[in-house]
Amino acid sequence: MIRNDLSILVADDMPLSCETIRVALIKNGYHNIRTTNTANEALTLLAAHPADIVLADWIMPGMDGLELTDRIRQQDEENNHYTSVILFTAKEGIENLEIAFERGVDDYLTKPVNERELIARIHAAGRIAALQNSLLGMTQDLTASNQQLQEMATTDPLTGLSNRRHMQTHLQALLAETVARGGAICLSIVDIDHFKNINDTHGHAIGDEVLVAFAKRLNRAVRPTDTVVRMGGEEFAIIMYYADAARINPDIFERIRCALGQRPIKTSAGDLAVTASFGVCVSTGTDATQSPESLIECADRKLYQAKSEGRNRIVY
Ligand code: GH3
Ligand code: MG
Ligand code: MG
Repeated sequence: MIRNDLSILVADDMPLSCETIRVALIKNGYHNIRTTNTANEALTLLAAHPADIVLADWIMPGMDGLELTDRIRQQDEENNHYTSVILFTAKEGIENLEIAFERGVDDYLTKPVNERELIARIHAAGRIAALQNSLLGMTQDLTASNQQLQEMATTDPLTGLSNRRHMQTHLQALLAETVARGGAICLSIVDIDHFKNINDTHGHAIGDEVLVAFAKRLNRAVRPTDTVVRMGGEEFAIIMYYADAARINPDIFERIRCALGQRPIKTSAGDLAVTASFGVCVSTGTDATQSPESLIECADRKLYQAKSEGRNRIVY
């Protein structure tokens, strides 16, 4: 009669005790049983294949049952697993049980072990292990979903760049940094010129291809520490932080503008020439009332000016 597939590990320095327990378990339908006479080997066996339940003698030479429990908990933490631990103790050991429970032991059995009691305890321990493991699994799934949600909430799905929401929090953090520690934030809003023409002439899908390629080009043109954002539509932003405000040089933006318009963008409708206009604003942290919104507004005004002055240029 096979009752279930609980994996059980028995650790007892007395080979006869091990054998007695093993025989009793098999008689009662358990078949996935490993035995060992040392705590060290128990840990090695568990590292190779975790168990649902460990039955261990409290008193063993070398490593005792309590230390073994500590090490199992440690190993479990690394593997996101839960092992139910039952210790065997002599009757006179019962007063120390409080210590055992504090150390993370789940249950105990007094020696000599009564077979019916053993099976009842194994049944309960199996339930504890199953519940704890399903809880650990759910927590892991939840953490992964939260991470995914967080990423979706801050990423633009078309280009993979950060979105406006992320821009807001990032600017907020950088503004606090410049107020506290100095340095400067440089915000550039970059808007593709006459993008509507591309959509009108070649269709929305080709427009999307241009946006994706433009985003890649923009990302490649800046430093790895800069943040490139798709604010919406064909409007992008570059957020740069400089520990030393004196190092901000308008040539940087000129170089980026040239890199963007240097070659036409390859699309399935052929090569399309694209240029962009820049509005650049710098905050040095001397104005503690500066907000992400006021910084964006400032860069937006300069972008408007760049557009009205003929496009494909930078207003700084
Ligand atoms: P300007 O030089 O003044 O910036 O002119 P523009 O044509 O680039 O700007 P306008 O704001 O008139 O048009 C932007 C167009 O971008 C209009 C809109 O339909 C299009 N657009 C917005 N989001 C997307 C998108 O995700 N994909 C595509 N293909 N087009 C988009
Ligand atoms: Mg535009
Ligand atoms: Mg626009």
